Amino acid sequence: DYGDISAPNRTKEIVSRHGFSFKKSLGQNFLVDQNILRKIVEAAELGPDDGALEIGPGIGSLTEPLAREAKAVLAVEIDQRLIPILDETLASYSNVQIVHGDVLKLPLGDLLRQHLGECEQVSVVANLPYYVTTPIVMKLLEEKLPLRNIVVMIQKEVADRMASGPGTKDYGSLSIAVSYYCEPQLVTIVPRTVFIPQPNVDSAVIKLKVRDRPPVQVEDEAFFFDVVQAAFAQRRKTVANNLLARFFGKGERSRLETILAEAGIDPVRRGETLSIDEYARLSNIMLRSL
Ligand code: SAM
Repeated sequence: DYGDISAPNRTKEIVSRHGFSFKKSLGQNFLVDQNILRKIVEAAELGPDDGALEIGPGIGSLTEPLAREAKAVLAVEIDQRLIPILDETLASYSNVQIVHGDVLKLPLGDLLRQHLGECEQVSVVANLPYYVTTPIVMKLLEEKLPLRNIVVMIQKEVADRMASGPGTKDYGSLSIAVSYYCEPQLVTIVPRTVFIPQPNVDSAVIKLKVRDRPPVQVEDEAFFFDVVQAAFAQRRKTVANNLLARFFGKGERSRLETILAEAGIDPVRRGETLSIDEYARLSNIMLRSL
């Protein structure tokens, strides 16, 4: 059996025996589908010497197959009520460590060194709480943690934004941030029926293969991301008007147009048509001339 905890009847039994009530505010939707669990775990490509960091183990539905595949699993759960339940459901897996806390507040680099330091490579594998999907993924990326893959179940709409390229309606600053750090790939779309209770959005599993180095050379990362943010501030405005509003004073349009010309960017284009290479070039030139 691939996962025992995730069998629908077992999940219901665990939940009711412990008198557990789901908290919508914590994004508690537990997976009860072995096929989806298999797809998530396979996408992470865990070898027997690898480690897994799970965010939000719930009652352990995904933790269990991770414990079977990986050398060690570190699972961070915010809800104190789930800690004794996890101690029970995962009692037979000696390679699982549960940490109680908010993943956004914990020092993840220290925890990885402490609990998964002996592992060859570490991947994040999780069915994320949807109210904090983007902050969690951005924290994992910006802290430049030594990760191989990030395989997460998230809202389909957010997965589309993470994995889209220039010229599409979903392309934006999140797409650029994700592709700066990773190679994104959509693994599968997931219907709401595979959860207890069912969420009110469709979901997707996305795999972010962490890059060794960014695909573009950026002289100042914070400034690069500032320029990207600014270019998308008002989607219907041209890139020139958006940049003018954020970085230039009145009467500086011609100076901005010179910069755009040097970067090879037509000022009437919109932010959503610029590639990551163009944003890198533009921000490097702007940095030198501001
Ligand atoms: N992994 C389980 C599964 O697949 O059935 C549960 C997934 S459920 C979508 C999200 C889990 O994340 C819940 O257990 C919830 O309590 C936990 N959680 C919510 N916010 C969190 C946070 N800030 N830090 C850590 N865990 C969190």
